[in-house]
Amino acid sequence: MTTDARPGLSGLTADELAAWVKAQGEPSFRARQISDAIWKDGGTTEAAEVRTLPGHLRVALERDFRLDTVHDSEIRVADGGLTEKVLHRLDDGELIESVLMHYPARGASRERHTLCISSQAGCAVGCPFCATGELGFGRDLEMAEIVDQARHAARRLATDRKRLTNIVFMGMGEPLLNLDRVLAAVEALNDPKRFGLGARHITVSTSGVVPGIRRLTALGPQFTLAISLHAARDALRDVLVPLNRRWPVAEVVDAARDHAHATGRRISYEYTMIGGVNDTDLDARALADLLRGDHAHVNLIPMNQVAHTPWQASPMPVIETFAAVLLEAGVGTTIRRNRGQEVGAACGQLAAERAGEPPAPAVARRRERLVLASAAALRGERSEEPAPAMVGGEP
Ligand code: SF4
Repeated sequence: MTTDARPGLSGLTADELAAWVKAQGEPSFRARQISDAIWKDGGTTEAAEVRTLPGHLRVALERDFRLDTVHDSEIRVADGGLTEKVLHRLDDGELIESVLMHYPARGASRERHTLCISSQAGCAVGCPFCATGELGFGRDLEMAEIVDQARHAARRLATDRKRLTNIVFMGMGEPLLNLDRVLAAVEALNDPKRFGLGARHITVSTSGVVPGIRRLTALGPQFTLAISLHAARDALRDVLVPLNRRWPVAEVVDAARDHAHATGRRISYEYTMIGGVNDTDLDARALADLLRGDHAHVNLIPMNQVAHTPWQASPMPVIETFAAVLLEAGVGTTIRRNRGQEVGAACGQLAAERAGEPPAPAVARRRERLVLASAAALRGERSEEPAPAMVGGEP
């Protein structure tokens, strides 16, 4: 998979690290020293810097493991320093993105530093309003490649004596199609002896992989679950989230409802607002009817402009009217502000830029197809296209 066969050190469990230390003929406390060196404040990326270890063990560490699996190609800063978008290069050349967002203290709420991370390189789901969807699927990330995005951000914050306060799996990829590694990553991020971030501060988002949601429910409350809904009517959701042809709205919301019931955790629903497509009064009422009485909260997010779609973000007055319908129905709703638009902060935009422009006729065909599909969806006609293949594997 990667060109460097050495595993990422941060991908080891405590038991695996202890076993490696033992195999080197070293006392068990060395495992603790190594763990501290790679996790505290994001840790180090060079074995030579782990001064608590004897020289021969530093050499063995370097020989057997990669101390970092994500490398910086580019950091772009926007919003007066409040948003940092990072394009990471992996060892096999795949590009992934993470976004660090700073929220200054306001009133009673404390300062927050939230990192949005990727779980796959590219994505098989193919939502047409998403730049990652345009890229197609590259591969699942290794567990170390997931947590190393967080270590990278933690190191940058540590230079200002700050710490990450929240992590959201809302970057590139569908996390529940790489579920085993995502769960292992969450365990490491949550473990007080490793990254040490409280479960309530970790959010995993899905576009609606129902068997994955059910698997999470069986595990109990591990983190906050977010559903990328974007439409409450199947005809429209078939177009906006092609996975809906496999698991339609009612099945997704049923699974989310069961999750909220079993775990006591409120479900977040993400809803990208696309002008004239999913922001009509009909859509607002459909969403209000769907979630009325649920332990749920809706986040309305103006669409980021993505190349090769014919769509724009809904105007703010339309979003406010949409929110009012939900609030009227007793559905908790927040309008989110777009971050980092001037640096392409929407998931996949930087990687898409690097991939280069597709030929103009292909872009024109795609736009025309989307205009026709969204018009048909407004008339309530369902798509006859098949669901996307589950390249990331069945959960
Ligand atoms: S919105 Fe999420 S699930 Fe849809 S294509 Fe983009 S990364 Fe994949």
